[in-house]
Amino acid sequence: MLYLDFIPGRRDALHKYVEPIEAIVWHFTGGSKNPKMNLVEGGAALSGRRGVGWHFTIPRQAPSPGRLSVLQHYSWDERVGHAGGSILNGRGNVNGRTYGVELANLGPVVKYKGKWVSSLWLADGAVVPMRGSNIFTAPGGTTHEAFSDYQLEAAAQLKALFDRRFKGVAHVRHSEIKRGKPDPGPAFTLDL
Ligand SMILES: [Zn+2]
Repeated sequence: MLYLDFIPGRRDALHKYVEPIEAIVWHFTGGSKNPKMNLVEGGAALSGRRGVGWHFTIPRQAPSPGRLSVLQHYSWDERVGHAGGSILNGRGNVNGRTYGVELANLGPVVKYKGKWVSSLWLADGAVVPMRGSNIFTAPGGTTHEAFSDYQLEAAAQLKALFDRRFKGVAHVRHSEIKRGKPDPGPAFTLDL
């Protein structure tokens, strides 16, 4: 059983959906220009820039021990901005037709002064150490923060919930619909 724990996001620049939901867009938090994204952990709902938000966060560990839950930040009828500039099925306004799920994860990591840190943030001059403990090595040899077993289980159940609630809904990786986006990356092994 999956619980949805409601922790409200920012309330500015909210709109209601006027189109049906077509897809769920899966993201990781690492490397966002919004530094608060790295703070997304079982408690704080964070959505820093005006108009930027997402519906669900999957933290690395259970917010309440022994209870499988994800964090919901907006209600089902509130659209927010998580996929601006993307193209889905040949057209834009992707935020108006999708929900966004953020997995707390740094994505690609590199060893820097003896610690695994985000390579995306390092490119911007910020040293952000990895919080998870495991490394995922992709077939090409690149290194990524591994998703926790908790996250993969919660993601599978959240996907099943979407599939029940929105028959035929698609699931897409952010990287599939916007050029240059790396998320959720090869470590996210859930079969979408
Ligand atoms: Zn993304």
